[in-house]
Amino acid sequence: MTRAFLALSLLALALPLHAQEVSPQRLKADVETLVGFGTRHTMSSPTDPKRGIGAARAWAKAQFAASSAACGQCLSIATPETTVTGERLPSPTKIVDVVAIQRGSERPNEVVIVAGHIDSRVSDVMNATADAPGANDDGSGTALVLEAARVLSRQKFPTTIVYAVLSGEEQGLYGGKLLADYAKAQGWTVKAMFNNDIVGNSRGSDGLVDDTHVRVFSEGPRGDGDAALARAQRAIGGENDSPSRNLSRWLAGLTNPAQTGPGQTGLAVRQVWRADRMGRGGDHLPFEALGYPAVRFSVAVENYDRQHQDLRTEQGRAYGDTIDAMDFAYLAKVTRLNVAGLAALARAPMPPVATVKAAVQTFTEVSWKPVPGAARYAVWQRRTDAPGWPAKPVRVTTQTQVTLPGVRGDDWFFGVSAIAADGSASPVASAVPGGGFGPQAQN
Ligand SMILES: [Zn+2]
Repeated sequence: MTRAFLALSLLALALPLHAQEVSPQRLKADVETLVGFGTRHTMSSPTDPKRGIGAARAWAKAQFAASSAACGQCLSIATPETTVTGERLPSPTKIVDVVAIQRGSERPNEVVIVAGHIDSRVSDVMNATADAPGANDDGSGTALVLEAARVLSRQKFPTTIVYAVLSGEEQGLYGGKLLADYAKAQGWTVKAMFNNDIVGNSRGSDGLVDDTHVRVFSEGPRGDGDAALARAQRAIGGENDSPSRNLSRWLAGLTNPAQTGPGQTGLAVRQVWRADRMGRGGDHLPFEALGYPAVRFSVAVENYDRQHQDLRTEQGRAYGDTIDAMDFAYLAKVTRLNVAGLAALARAPMPPVATVKAAVQTFTEVSWKPVPGAARYAVWQRRTDAPGWPAKPVRVTTQTQVTLPGVRGDDWFFGVSAIAADGSASPVASAVPGGGFGPQAQN
């Protein structure tokens, strides 16, 4: 057995079947098609059959329809839309998201969402006519979403997966807002939203290469927090324990070989504990603003010559978001990690809302509300200055409360995860003010 074959076999053992099916060739073909629409600027033609955002959206919808046809119409396709005027949209412009919904067999109201944005831009954000290939930003995220739908629609899950191709990101995160509002209007219980934006290159503008990490951005203080929550967190903590932050920790655990998670993709998560990069944003932010757990996946090293740039060469240096600066083996790894994460979350229950009672006593009581689909619960405990949860919980129980004798609660943070009968475990929800995975108004 050659070493390469052995390595491949080990990878095959570690990766769940669906993640193995992700194809770098299909991802590349999809990005090539997206680039072929010339520009996908939000103000480009919505009706031209060949060039512009309308043609690109129609193609994405057809890809979802093909995946659905292959699984006995297991996807329902929706195209929520709104008309927006704004600083970067001087005249009323239609924003349309293309969404495929794979309904869960047991708890269809619980959803996990994967998204990328299909719109593109050049140096001038208002230029809707110049060629704007948007190969990496965000052809990469769009291709990832389409591929996730192809691969995961071959299986059934107890809860719902939503695949979303968003518009209007570059003009002001309008498609993300539209989908977050849509989720709220549907009354969905949003377990997680994965925003994939710029996920397909491994070489930075300074030549630095990293194809073994992906960054995951998450907010600390939750976006739907109010003054009362701020007061409670000032008093007893919780600013580092939002649901988005715990979702980030859970994703990092998926790729940690020590925890033998299903995300062994040759890619480790580098958690970035801020909502997004400095001075920049993405479509996860409108979700966090409504109180939904959300993270942004983005490459380990960005290539600034290849983002938001007119296509040109200056002194031998190429600018513009073209395919030749991408790494499709890397994009496939990020896609596999997303697919593993989506599948695991779609099988897991919702994390329970937990509270802790430990004031002025030598023991700690942790209790939580039961959640549908949970066969048992795990109780977690970490030092207040520890970055993440330890490898093992302190208790596993079928009850909805535990007493930890001799544990002085002041010195620890606690959390609870829910575990399905098949062993699929939810992220940990922290027993702190604002730790619940639902919008703050519902916790
Ligand atoms: Zn982007």
